[in-house]
Amino acid sequence: MPPSSTVDVLARELGVPSAFLYADELEALPAGAPSFRAVSKLRAGQERAALTSGALAIEVNRWLEARLRLPAASVPTYERGADDPVGAARRLRAEWGLGYAPLKNVVHLLEGRGVRVFSLPERLADVDAFSFWWEGAPYVVLNTRKSAERGRFDAAHELGHLVMHGDYDQPVGRDKERDANRFAAEFLMPADDVLSRGLRNAGVEQVLIAKRRWGVAAIALAYRLHELGATSDWLYASTCRRLSQMGYRSGEINGAPRETSRLLEQSFAALRQRKVTLADVARDMHVLPDTLRELMFGLALTAVDGGQQPSTRPRPNLRVV
Ligand SMILES: [Zn+2]
Repeated sequence: MPPSSTVDVLARELGVPSAFLYADELEALPAGAPSFRAVSKLRAGQERAALTSGALAIEVNRWLEARLRLPAASVPTYERGADDPVGAARRLRAEWGLGYAPLKNVVHLLEGRGVRVFSLPERLADVDAFSFWWEGAPYVVLNTRKSAERGRFDAAHELGHLVMHGDYDQPVGRDKERDANRFAAEFLMPADDVLSRGLRNAGVEQVLIAKRRWGVAAIALAYRLHELGATSDWLYASTCRRLSQMGYRSGEINGAPRETSRLLEQSFAALRQRKVTLADVARDMHVLPDTLRELMFGLALTAVDGGQQPSTRPRPNLRVV
């Protein structure tokens, strides 16, 4: 047992309160559980840090569930091979009564179905979004450094993993990645809807207008149109070239607003009525308030700490117990 002065130095250097180092260890998320994308590219340290974010997300969720009634999970897990990814996306849309309508907010949709959505700390910018099931609850951890449109696609991609690969008894491989992307494309941009919008032979200008309907990146819509046979190889290549020249490879120009958690915002608004603040939660969990803030889209927490009024949006299905 090192002297407390040494522990204090360690804590300061590691960005945790000293209490964190004396507390029980966080439950370790098995490395095989989250759907890490491109796992080979991840440096080991980044992977461990991301797993810790997942473990902290579980802790936050436990803390909240002990005090608030949150939406129960209603995300199905389809048997492996029961559907191809497109079929799985259509089946889920039908089960959730979404029809072919564009999705207004993917994060809110997931949260309404009981998915717990968190965000990665900024220093883990190189780690892609990931998802996992834990004690019957589905989790998605998003990277918020990319465009809002990419964030929506990532959320749909992770939903695909949760639904199609819920058993996660195998490491995520290239085919699972491809399947999750195909799921996300159909879930966000249903073929029937895309093909009924007069986008045959759509060029750059049409793509830039139409992408707003589905809240997707311009490149993603161009790819989708080509995949569905609405554009030729030549038109697809030239559209991508022009979009690249315009800067759409690295992000969206005048993009959509970032999607963030409403559940966490509402949870902390409810706690605030009981005079419980983010700092209290952080103290209970033996972490710094900033550690929780970056895990929760940096939000809710302004409403808690900044003395502002809680959101005026309706607060369904949530009550203090
Ligand atoms: Zn993936």
